[in-house]
Amino acid sequence: MAAATSTGSALQTYEQVAAASNEVAGLLAKRLKSETQGEVLFSAADKGRYATDASIYQVTPLGVFVPQHAEEVATAMAICRDLKVPIVPRGGGTSQCGQTTGVGLVIDHSKHVRNILNLDISAGTVEVQPGMVLDTLNASLKKHGLWFPVDVSTSAQATLGGMAGNNSCGSRSIAYGNMVHNVLSAKAWLSNGELLDFSQFENSSGRAKQIGEFVKHLAIHHQAELQTRWPKVLRRVAGYNLDIFDNQNVRPYTHDGKVNLSHLLVGSEGTLAMTQSLTLKLSELPTSKVLGVVNFNSFHKAMDSAQHIVKLGNGTLTAVELVDRTMIDLSLKIPAFASTIRTAIIGEPEAILLVEFAGHDKGKLKAELKQLVALMGDMGLPNSVVEMVDDAPQKNLWEVRKAGLNIMMSLKGDGKPVSFIEDCAVPLEHLAEYTDALTQVFQKHGTKGTWYAHASVGTLHVRPILDMRRDGPHKMRAIAEEASVLVRKFKGAYSGEHGDGLCRGEWIEWQFGPALQQAFAQIKQHLDPLNLLSPNRMINPPKMDDTSLMRFGNNYKIIPIQTALDWSAWNVHNDAATEQTTLPGTGQDPAQGLAKAVEMCNNNGTCRKFDAGTMCPSFRVTRDEVHATRGRANTLRLALSGQLQGGLESPEVQEAMDLCVGCKGCKRDCPTGVDMARMKIEVQHHYNEKHGLQLKDTLISNLPRYAHIASQWPGLMNLRNQSPLLAKLAESLTGLSAERSWPEWKKDHFFNGPPVGVSSEEVLKASKPVVLFVDTFNGYFESENAWAAHDVLSAAGYQVHIASRTKQDTPGQHLCCGRTYLASGQVSKAKEHAKALLEVLLPFAQKDIAIVGLEPSCLLTLRDESLVMGLGEMAETVASKAALFEEFLAAENKLGKLDSLKAKLAPAQKPILVHGHCHQKAFGLMPSVTQVIQLIPQAKVDLIESSCCGMAGSFGYEASHLEVSKQMAEANLLPSIRNNKDACVVADGTSCRHQIMDGTKRNAIHVALLLAQHLPK
Ligand SMILES: Cc1cc2nc3c(=O)[nH]c(=O)nc-3n(C[C@H](O)[C@H](O)[C@H](O)COP(=O)(O)OP(=O)(O)OC[C@H]3O[C@@H](n4cnc5c(N)ncnc54)[C@H](O)[C@@H]3O)c2cc1C
Ligand code: SF4
Ligand code: SF4
Repeated sequence: MAAATSTGSALQTYEQVAAASNEVAGLLAKRLKSETQGEVLFSAADKGRYATDASIYQVTPLGVFVPQHAEEVATAMAICRDLKVPIVPRGGGTSQCGQTTGVGLVIDHSKHVRNILNLDISAGTVEVQPGMVLDTLNASLKKHGLWFPVDVSTSAQATLGGMAGNNSCGSRSIAYGNMVHNVLSAKAWLSNGELLDFSQFENSSGRAKQIGEFVKHLAIHHQAELQTRWPKVLRRVAGYNLDIFDNQNVRPYTHDGKVNLSHLLVGSEGTLAMTQSLTLKLSELPTSKVLGVVNFNSFHKAMDSAQHIVKLGNGTLTAVELVDRTMIDLSLKIPAFASTIRTAIIGEPEAILLVEFAGHDKGKLKAELKQLVALMGDMGLPNSVVEMVDDAPQKNLWEVRKAGLNIMMSLKGDGKPVSFIEDCAVPLEHLAEYTDALTQVFQKHGTKGTWYAHASVGTLHVRPILDMRRDGPHKMRAIAEEASVLVRKFKGAYSGEHGDGLCRGEWIEWQFGPALQQAFAQIKQHLDPLNLLSPNRMINPPKMDDTSLMRFGNNYKIIPIQTALDWSAWNVHNDAATEQTTLPGTGQDPAQGLAKAVEMCNNNGTCRKFDAGTMCPSFRVTRDEVHATRGRANTLRLALSGQLQGGLESPEVQEAMDLCVGCKGCKRDCPTGVDMARMKIEVQHHYNEKHGLQLKDTLISNLPRYAHIASQWPGLMNLRNQSPLLAKLAESLTGLSAERSWPEWKKDHFFNGPPVGVSSEEVLKASKPVVLFVDTFNGYFESENAWAAHDVLSAAGYQVHIASRTKQDTPGQHLCCGRTYLASGQVSKAKEHAKALLEVLLPFAQKDIAIVGLEPSCLLTLRDESLVMGLGEMAETVASKAALFEEFLAAENKLGKLDSLKAKLAPAQKPILVHGHCHQKAFGLMPSVTQVIQLIPQAKVDLIESSCCGMAGSFGYEASHLEVSKQMAEANLLPSIRNNKDACVVADGTSCRHQIMDGTKRNAIHVALLLAQHLPK
């Protein structure tokens, strides 16, 4: 058999292309623009955003192409062929080994090429385009009682094309196998433009048949090597699947033993062909599940037991997942999860195994659970199993497992848990010995790892903490070398889940030997003789520790800047062995912690999800990488490290930030806590410093300042709302859309109405004191809410004091948190206002009196931005007592203090539909809204599963954002309201209420008003 001779020359061509990149890139972009309708993204920022995935690598592509439809992929490939430009296929870009980083043209399938092409319910098959996201597919299959069961953790953002590319595997692979076991056929283009049908070998014809014959001959030729070198485990994803002709996997690739050529492409990481569509085998969705949580007092024992546990279940065992002591401890520290994890543990276990049985007959599953209990008893662990039969506790526990990982990933400082040996797979009988030995390797190198995940199949995730800017690459190499010795000793697979990419390409030959590596090279040469598809990855790969390919490589330097906000919490060092961090501000970040905060983004792509939660509303509308939190974080990282000309003040950074609505969804939903809303404030500050403020920002931010004057002239001020001509004129002057009404000014409002509440002296002495902070919006525009809050609190027996200015030098002016200034990056003005507010509130907070507010974005500023504006201890003290109206009442109710209020409330007459303000959600406060509504007798409350309403302060008022704003609202919020015609709609955010009114003509109300409406008149 001839060796792959032309790879070398193709490589030279490839390098020439890279060297002449400007000229070639120009031609490439020009042709893509003229021959397709797709998006042609060749700016430095776009290329930078696509230079990374969830790995440690960064390789800048020539450009990025986002096809409108599948045919444009073929066109782009043809252009690349003409220009000899390499091609890097991409889905969600969540690969952990650098599979989607490369010098060529990145083709992003995730935006448009994502449809179901053919669903055959009776056959249990579906044909999908490669950009379709797994969770989207499964959501559409649910009603048919079917699912695609390769349940990767990234199911909300991983695409089927990417999953096939990597031969991905889910938590339940013990029951369903890997991707390769679930793909029935693939239509794919070779780099020469031929579109082939890769399916059953014996039925294939033409070029596909010929490829099959070629690979078959290779398999026969290398039979001896194949049988001795190939790991005999389920989880082997390295190299090409040469063994489809001589199966070495513990599970047959096909149910009838017939060779399927699509399996050659699965796991080939985009290096052999470009997938046009995949036909997948679907499984029945189990209707019942039970979970046994086995508690172990030694980690070793847990690992040793896995091999016995997997024999249980009579075909119903679907998962055996590990959670170790560190993760248990981390989970116990999270208030939201502590009680759940306590339901699963007995005493203080060193590890727990989550053993799941699934099927259709709960009775039978319960019997399997009893078998687990018996087995553990036989193994000397009586009373070690917590049995979870109901669905709710099981679901909660799986959530805890995810949260533990998130906390681990949120370690601040330059040391990060690095993924490079986190998916080695060893036969179960060696799992205990392997984990013991690897733990010692970590200790030897001054680091440690937290273990979790797939004990059922011998693939335990573990990420040692390494500092990739300093000695990390060196340690990575050393640990990898030692881990490989262990993997070989135990006859395991070095790459058991996450693929090869840049990180493990060099280990393919180590795993399979030179002869099989040569066979792989021949396969590559045969399918892609032009070496166009992701060259230098599985064949001729670079070294894993080549720092020139790393995100934080040798030349990575942060440009010093003076920040407006305090980022010192991120500016720390951490100790890899103890995970202890140094004091805030000691991390030597030239950007005072901002860079380290930005670098928290590890590109895992959770911000590309579409399911529950808030993050990220702008990405949900545009599906553009630039508008995902990840795209923004990468843009900022490039700007802060001098890889983007113009730094933070550049137009590219503005573009990335433009559609960020500051919803704080990422602050809560991002696994590493990337807080883009706060970063946007910082960025706007720097932008303003250089470019000055826009008129609209001046108008809106100063609203609290001029409100007392404007409200005296409501007729004049409201003219703009009545005259379309004036509205148009205002739009051309300010950029605020003529289509939006502005809040109506009123002469009589809360701040000039009859005084309510008790004095500050009285509240300080009161038995049930509370201070109400009335913000600009509820005070001037929706005074009824402020009065309602006062009435409800009074009805509950509280002595309510309305926080107000005491100084004489600001006549008529109310207190303001500074939010409108923060929204446009005016930090010093915001600080001025916040300081005045804090000075008023401090004496009450010091006396332990609750400070209650109505507008989520205003009140929660006291618990968020106020703490990072250099306002000292005063800010901390006030923050500790600041609570939203509903939060305060919910807490008081738990203490049994609302009995008198409850007795007064009349029963609800209508169902109640609640939309949460993003900041309420970011602070986890939605439960308190529903709890407070439930104080009303017979209240039936439903929470709308919505992201941001799209109004977001002034965002939705701006003409340039109008369409996006409406789309955000139409994603879920407005349709839910329209579908519930009889419901009373509750929304605590003033802009949310405005958006709801504009979009549905329905009057949403604040929860305070809802309660007040149920009080006796
Ligand atoms: C936090 C985290 C958890 C993870 N958990 C799991 C897990 O549980 N199980 C698991 O297996 N993996 C896991 N991964 C890895 C990763 O999410 C999966 O491999 C996922 O399937 C990749 O999907 P993607 O759409 O992001 O693919 P991408 O990363 O975009 O691409 C993956 C590969 O497919 C190729 N490709 C994409 N589209 C095409 C196409 N049309 N034609 C040809 N090739 C194509 C790419 O070139 C690349 O080589 C995890 C990653 C992270 C960050
Ligand atoms: S912003 Fe957060 S969720 Fe998005 S990729 Fe980065 S780390 Fe992941
Ligand atoms: S603040 Fe909201 S819009 Fe901005 S990046 Fe975060 S989730 Fe997206």
